[in-house]
Amino acid sequence: MLPVSRPSLGIEELEEVKKVFATGWLGLGSTVFEFENEIKEYLEARNVIAVSTGTTALHIALDGFGIKEADEVIVPSLTFCASIQAITALRAIPVFCEINPSTLNIDVEDARGKITRRTKAIMPVHYCGNACDMDALLALGKEHGLLIVEDAAHAFGSSYKGRKIGSFGDVTCFSFDPIKNITCGEGGAVVLSDDNIAEEIRRKRILGIDKDTWHRYRNERSWFYEVTTQGYRYHMSNINAAIGLAQFKKLDMFIEKKRKIVELYNEHFKHIEGLELLAWNLNETAPFTYIVRVLNDKRDQLMDFLKSRDIGSGIHYIANHIQPFFKQYTCELPVTDKVWKEILTLPLYYDMTDNDVQRVIDAVTEFFLKKDI
Ligand SMILES: *Cc1c(COP(=O)(O)O)cnc(C)c1O
Repeated sequence: MLPVSRPSLGIEELEEVKKVFATGWLGLGSTVFEFENEIKEYLEARNVIAVSTGTTALHIALDGFGIKEADEVIVPSLTFCASIQAITALRAIPVFCEINPSTLNIDVEDARGKITRRTKAIMPVHYCGNACDMDALLALGKEHGLLIVEDAAHAFGSSYKGRKIGSFGDVTCFSFDPIKNITCGEGGAVVLSDDNIAEEIRRKRILGIDKDTWHRYRNERSWFYEVTTQGYRYHMSNINAAIGLAQFKKLDMFIEKKRKIVELYNEHFKHIEGLELLAWNLNETAPFTYIVRVLNDKRDQLMDFLKSRDIGSGIHYIANHIQPFFKQYTCELPVTDKVWKEILTLPLYYDMTDNDVQRVIDAVTEFFLKKDI
């Protein structure tokens, strides 16, 4: 079975982990700081805070900016449930908004219409790696005094108008989970320019313990520490950072290959009438997943057909406003209701062979050539 996604791992990752083992210091320490510095330089960002997952990055970013109980955060319903859980973890209220069907990115005008006196933030998601309309979002945020928290879990390595996602904006959260553009095993990062809030988030990731005692983590003999804020145990470990360091060196290679696969898919699928392709901005995008919209209620049939050809496919994602736990926040979202039933994720990962890619193209083409559908 061809998987939808798979991390590309080699001896390089093991070698980096081996170095960490040799130090005997597995937790938060110099490898994490090294990983943060690599990302900081790459993004030309001011503050990079490595954490345990993309979900904890979102949670701690919202918390660090003071989002609290009863505050409203506008977020597309079509996203991974992690985006919403990060909001509800703070007892804040997710206000679901629509997406643009051609990019699956946030519909900025719909978001504008959902702003109330209680709105504190908007959480756009850069779907498949294609950047949202950040000029419009940041302008909207400025106009209403709202924080723009980017869920950039799909978009590590992507750019917007020549600037890397994470190098501008209020606060950007990345994920390095096993299937993301690069992986740490599990990991995430909060990226922001505000130094004071960055310090607060840095404390929050390690139980609210003050930075002044950070040398504790350099294995020196220091017993003194102060707890100065609500914190969590959300820091990244040296083991995970080691995997990330090795992966980071391969990022350009990953992006180039995945762009080529997306181009090939687009080239072959654009003539198929039953499919609607996403509007890719490939020059600036580090492609995360390859999603097509399958029209005329044929999505599940195509999924079954691919399965019969030993090709995996997936649905990213089920709309959140229909999930049992989020139903209390539900609202009318006709575009999302239609689009989430059309989306299908096809295999896309670095280790795919030319033959793997061709198999997917052939199977999808064959499905639409069959006369009985
Ligand atoms: C993966 C993902 C997350 C969460 O990241 P984890 O590292 O898996 O916790 C959040 N939002 C989106 C859109 C994601 O795809």
